[in-house]
Amino acid sequence: MPVEGLPDPALHRLCRRCGTWYHLHEGSTDWPPVTGLISFIQVRSGQLLERTERMQFRCRGCFDEQARKSKSGRRSLLIGLIMLALIVATCWWLGVFDELEKMLRQGMQQQRPRR
Ligand SMILES: [Zn+2]
Repeated sequence: MPVEGLPDPALHRLCRRCGTWYHLHEGSTDWPPVTGLISFIQVRSGQLLERTERMQFRCRGCFDEQARKSKSGRRSLLIGLIMLALIVATCWWLGVFDELEKMLRQGMQQQRPRR
């Protein structure tokens, strides 16, 4: 049940998602959900450095919803990484990097002043 009237920071917490004050036992403090590469890095670095101030309180309803979203976020991150690996592998297989190297060398040779 959301807090009515003036909230007391010692007893209540503001849900970071819906912006409603709740009693401490009506939600939990956890790391923000991973929705992509940037939030993944932020959360992982926060966990490694134990930066608990980055943790956020969320009410139970928002927590459940974000847990679902976080799952799909992690999945899309994984798919993104696999796609990137496939693109790099395909480029390598097609010899794109050799072509790029050739182009870069030619470009550098053209830039050199002729004597
Ligand atoms: Zn909420």
